[in-house]
Amino acid sequence: MAMFWKKDKKAGERDYQKERLTMVEEQLRRRRISDPRVLEAMAKVPRHLFVPGDYQNSAYEDRPLPIGEGQTISQPYMVAIMTQSLELKGREKVLEIGTGSGYQAAILAELARAVYTVERISSLTQSAQKVLHDLGYQNIFFRTGDGSKGWPEEALFDGIMVTAGAPDIPQTFKDQLTEGGRLVIPTGPRYTQTLFKLTREGEQFVEEDVTGCVFVPLVGDHGWKEN
Ligand code: SAM
Repeated sequence: MAMFWKKDKKAGERDYQKERLTMVEEQLRRRRISDPRVLEAMAKVPRHLFVPGDYQNSAYEDRPLPIGEGQTISQPYMVAIMTQSLELKGREKVLEIGTGSGYQAAILAELARAVYTVERISSLTQSAQKVLHDLGYQNIFFRTGDGSKGWPEEALFDGIMVTAGAPDIPQTFKDQLTEGGRLVIPTGPRYTQTLFKLTREGEQFVEEDVTGCVFVPLVGDHGWKEN
């Protein structure tokens, strides 16, 4: 768990900590987010440090934001509902596909033992790695490559979160889940998906439909083809 409360605000700057607490109250607690550990992590991680300078003042708004390379940081509520769906207690080894800004990885790193995160665009891996290092996270492991294959060398995972939309649910992710493990993945047509939660029970997977959503595409061998 990283320590950075004090770095957050200098005299005369916006009160990002206050904006963050308002975000938690108005966008998360008033909706379906009830896991106290998820609410605490979202109140702690400085989201404004994960977005480009031009967007810092919008970091706590109820919407996704551009992060460069045609990609986005997800809306806070979507980060929270996906994280809550993993039901993390603190001992888990988690895989995230789509590092993007690194914000979701930070939230997961607050709540799990170790986070393995894969991003296909190397400039995004590098900038995420830098901000997460500067914030003091030591339990996040990075890879640049096609995350639609998962991370077989590090499997099994207690939780897998895919933060890009897939046409359907790749078997690779199911194969890399522990018994009782949870997979959260947006799946469906390219411009509108459903967020599914799957829980492994032996060779069976109990499937729940969590919410509607819109994600950038998962591009790769087990996702969408490029263009
Ligand atoms: N979790 C991110 C965050 O907290 O900022 C947001 C992720 S963004 C919605 C989706 C990310 O998935 C993009 O950065 C995109 O480049 C990445 N992506 C798409 N296909 C991928 C693949 N096959 N493997 C790894 N990353 C992929």
